[in-house]
Amino acid sequence: MAGEFDLIRDYFRDATAQREDVVLGVGDDCALLEVPAGKQLAVSMDTLVVGRHFVADVDPQSLGYKALAVNLSDLAAMGATPAWATLSVTLPDADADWIKRFMAGFIELAKKHQLTLVGGDTTRGPLSITLQVHGFVEPSNSMRRNAACVGDLIYVSGQLGDAGLALLAQQGLYVKQGSLASLKQRLDRPEPRIELGLIAAMHSRCAIDLSDGLGSDLGHICEESDVGALIYLDKLPMSNAVAEYVTESGDWSLPLSAGDDYELCMTVPAQHQAAFEAAMQQQDVPVTWIGMIEQGEQVRAMSPNGDVDAYVARGYDHFKN
Ligand code: ADP
Ligand code: MG
Repeated sequence: MAGEFDLIRDYFRDATAQREDVVLGVGDDCALLEVPAGKQLAVSMDTLVVGRHFVADVDPQSLGYKALAVNLSDLAAMGATPAWATLSVTLPDADADWIKRFMAGFIELAKKHQLTLVGGDTTRGPLSITLQVHGFVEPSNSMRRNAACVGDLIYVSGQLGDAGLALLAQQGLYVKQGSLASLKQRLDRPEPRIELGLIAAMHSRCAIDLSDGLGSDLGHICEESDVGALIYLDKLPMSNAVAEYVTESGDWSLPLSAGDDYELCMTVPAQHQAAFEAAMQQQDVPVTWIGMIEQGEQVRAMSPNGDVDAYVARGYDHFKN
């Protein structure tokens, strides 16, 4: 069986593309990294634990991809360019094949975003993955949760609820003729909206990535910015499959509160609307206007029939479940 140092040498050292700003990468007591002059370092970390975030027999390649994707999504939401990652892997035993497949998924996405793995830790214990990513932001262009203002327009990227519908289908709670395969891709392989975030940051001061569902994540913006939000349910962008589900069931929970979409929700001052929309039209993912920031402290949703209801947060809270 491989030892800790064999795993590091074989799978973590030189695993990803080299970058000039990595003075010293995997192999020493610390990595030495150079932040470009005039940029701020954006740092974010996520932990995935067996039994809570994934099942023990998860496909390691999908896990490697998704672990990085959800971290990159946080960088996207700040308007940051990805640069480096550190990775802590806890494994029940030194399973080289598992690591190899995990890293295949990780490396695929890392290459796409020119991200280099610069260090980490490898220990024994119940399966768990902690990943930290580092990126650069233009100091005047970071998008923060506390920067929404009354009168701002609210936009989301992509389509909402696909991952949630895939999860329902996977659990056997939704059965439909025809293929739900493309939805499964949206659950297993979310696309971090890095490019979109970078361009949006030239016009928007406030964004969040949608990991826990629109209602709950937009609620974080409202809380941090001390504002309310009104969204129009009939504006929410949905795939045909999700739209059909909503029409059949009359239940809006997929686009409103299902997690794992990893789209961006952004707020834009009215004077930047035209420039923002023009820039977003150049992106290969649609960006849709869904509502307004208003005075108050709640997220409210207007139904197609004109009824307005306060959104009651049902996002996932690890310490409440
Ligand atoms: P130390 O004992 O000095 O903390 P380690 O033996 O834990 O060092 O790690 C040796 C080198 O391998 C370090 O540069 C560390 O960053 C790197 N490393 C260990 N595990 C990982 C991993 N899972 N991914 C990336 N780099 C790793
Ligand atoms: Mg160590």
